[in-house]
Amino acid sequence: MILLLFCSDISMDKTTKHTPRKAVALVSGGLDSMLAVKVVQDQGVHVEGVNFFTGFCVEGHTHAIRKNDRARPKRNNALWVAEQLGIKLHILDVSEPYKDVVINPRHGYGANLNPCLDCKGFMVNKAYEWMQEHGFDFLITGEVIGQRPMSQRKDTMPVVSKESGAGDLLLRPLCAKLLPETRPEREGWIQREALLDFSGRNRKPQMALAAQYGFEDYAQPAGGCCFLTDANYSSKLADLWQARGEKTYEIDDIVMLKVGRHLRPKPHFKLIIAREEGETNFLKGYRKRYISLNTVSHSGPIALVDGEPDEDDLALAARLVARFSSGRDAQNVTVQVRLKDGASRIVDIAPLSAAEVEPSWYV
Ligand code: SF4
Repeated sequence: MILLLFCSDISMDKTTKHTPRKAVALVSGGLDSMLAVKVVQDQGVHVEGVNFFTGFCVEGHTHAIRKNDRARPKRNNALWVAEQLGIKLHILDVSEPYKDVVINPRHGYGANLNPCLDCKGFMVNKAYEWMQEHGFDFLITGEVIGQRPMSQRKDTMPVVSKESGAGDLLLRPLCAKLLPETRPEREGWIQREALLDFSGRNRKPQMALAAQYGFEDYAQPAGGCCFLTDANYSSKLADLWQARGEKTYEIDDIVMLKVGRHLRPKPHFKLIIAREEGETNFLKGYRKRYISLNTVSHSGPIALVDGEPDEDDLALAARLVARFSSGRDAQNVTVQVRLKDGASRIVDIAPLSAAEVEPSWYV
């Protein structure tokens, strides 16, 4: 009997108590999404974050590999931001469906191979699906009008709302006052007056708001949130597609583009040469998937061969690897060539001279 009374007490409380509205935030790990969450949280909304793994994310990976970067903090900024805000973060692996965004962007690429407008629409769509599956009410992003040349313009922001399917359930708290009213505002889930009117590339308003909230430490992404905005990375991806004769990739391919020097002496093969100890250790993990070369008589980097080299190609590859070793000025350098099945042989070769390394080989 006591138990029954106790239970009915709970159900009464549930029906009379105000249930907060729930918003899903796209959390990149940068300041803007951090502020957008805070603005909405301050209105009593329950917020949880989603963050997408595409394979091109800048976070963590290269910093974790390269020894030179070890002084930098190895934090995942999206997780760190979520922790600061006290929200749950759901990291969603979208790397497989994301391929179509990179390979066939309907709205084309930005300055490099960054399909920002398609990418934004895709991510908002995935967040919208997640929102529906998990019973949340609306979506928020940290977008600011005029901040990015492709996806954050007054004329392209409605494209993202429309093509993602989110429509007016997508709220951009940092610039909402400059945009038409959204459903969360109309329904009174959010007070429009408490939202903001930031625009343009000037970061001062964000920094002032961060100071107001007491956020002192936050990531300052330069250029974009993924490697596709990077000119060097994009040229390596374009080279990969050209060499294969088709625009395809697997996750290992795009991870490999972040590591080492890439030199393509012939159209049908390229070398990925470690630049330092951390990369050497990383590339060693791929010796069963690629032919690998390393110098034996002198200290030097490991190199992987991507493509289908013949014997002459492997001889050229060995001379090139020797060029990047401490034996570059020696008459002969001993190089171990290891095939994918583990069989290996030793060759004695003369390193290429500096003049023999064509600048056009550098991808
Ligand atoms: S920078 Fe990369 S992750 Fe960010 S919107 Fe553009 S393509 Fe997408």
